[in-house]
Amino acid sequence: MQMISLLGATGSIGVSTLDVIARHPDKYAIYALTAYTQVDKLAEQCQQFNPKFAVVGDAVSAERLQVKLRACGCDTEALYGLEALCQVASDAAVDTVMAAIVGAAGLVPTLAAVKAGKKILLANKEALVMAGGLFMQAVADSGSVLLPIDSEHNAIFQCLPSDYGRSADNGVKKLLLSASGGPFRGWTLEQMQRVTPDQACAHPNWSMGRKISVDSATLMNKGLELIEACWLFAVPERSIDVIVHPQSIIHSLVQYSDGSVLAQLGNPDMRTPIAHALAWPQRIGSGVANLDLFDIARLDFEQPDMQAFPSLAIARAAAQAGANAAAIMNAANEVAVQAFLDQRIGFTQIAEIVEQTLNSQTVCEPESLEAVQESDSEARLFSSTLIKSLEK
Ligand code: NAD
Ligand code: MG
Repeated sequence: MQMISLLGATGSIGVSTLDVIARHPDKYAIYALTAYTQVDKLAEQCQQFNPKFAVVGDAVSAERLQVKLRACGCDTEALYGLEALCQVASDAAVDTVMAAIVGAAGLVPTLAAVKAGKKILLANKEALVMAGGLFMQAVADSGSVLLPIDSEHNAIFQCLPSDYGRSADNGVKKLLLSASGGPFRGWTLEQMQRVTPDQACAHPNWSMGRKISVDSATLMNKGLELIEACWLFAVPERSIDVIVHPQSIIHSLVQYSDGSVLAQLGNPDMRTPIAHALAWPQRIGSGVANLDLFDIARLDFEQPDMQAFPSLAIARAAAQAGANAAAIMNAANEVAVQAFLDQRIGFTQIAEIVEQTLNSQTVCEPESLEAVQESDSEARLFSSTLIKSLEK
């Protein structure tokens, strides 16, 4: 029986994870479920999965959750705050941690799980983007097993040789990262100026949380994924090509020196990479429908439009700069995306704010988690101030 802590249980990845787990009660049990403010949804999940702990963001929510749990006869204990998140991520009773909190908030609890040597199912790409060097060093030090949930990285993981990383001569030439192109593929910058949050969140192929949906629309999601891939697979940014593939059936590819290209295909449903990582190196059912190639009929590929989607070039520049550049970029992006969702800035201003913030900050190697957090705070302050000045 694998004992699992699920960080971010009420989100899109969290719900898909519970869907897969519910199909295999003989293999997986839940130790803890966490959410931020969604008390009602978390209480329902606790009733179904009966975890030892449920963690929320603050004391008031925890109290509300505890009352609800008692009322329905559920003996889950409600906790709150960062310390509780780290505790359930690192407890000796836990085998596997699904890191599915969105954004920088996921970094510290995910790192706690890494340091405790857990098997990590990583959906929270922002943690790796912010602190890749420290994160990967912690993985190496603790011997923790790190499995990618992001569909592209999970696809690459499946297409790489099984001794990748242990053998220098693996024949891998390039990683080809798939991108759907998002809801505004084919649009000009001008056309994107007045789009609404709901338009940006209406992804053609995937149903996801609002932050990642906006990232997918600006292509910053692909930029974050580029940096994520550099860390996960220990390759430089120039060894990764972004391929726009609107059907989202090929989730990514690996090109080898002999001309072979291996791809992983599947319906666009996150339960596939989740089931893959949960069961790895075995396979389990995920509930995803069989891929019907006759139904799909054709697969298309195009170059990303670098003019209309400047985020991709910004992310490449941050990857090249290394050090704390990606942490600065990530923080500015989180602030700008939230401002766009709150209708304080326009869609195309997101990339402008990220770029200006990146250019304004000093790039230096973060030697500690505190240094990463400081870069993150300073970038948040700069971008928030910039947004306020734009509103006037
Ligand atoms: P979501 O917004 O649907 O869910 C986020 C979860 O994090 C919720 O449970 C929420 O309660 C929790 N949370 C939010 N802020 C928090 C905070 N400050 N402290 C503690 N918990 C907090 O997001 P999602 O779409 O499920 O994405 C989660 C992560 O997975 C993101 O990093 C995203 O980039 C990544 N990811 C998602 C998908 C997808 O299909 N949704 C695919 C690939 C990668
Ligand atoms: Mg992805």
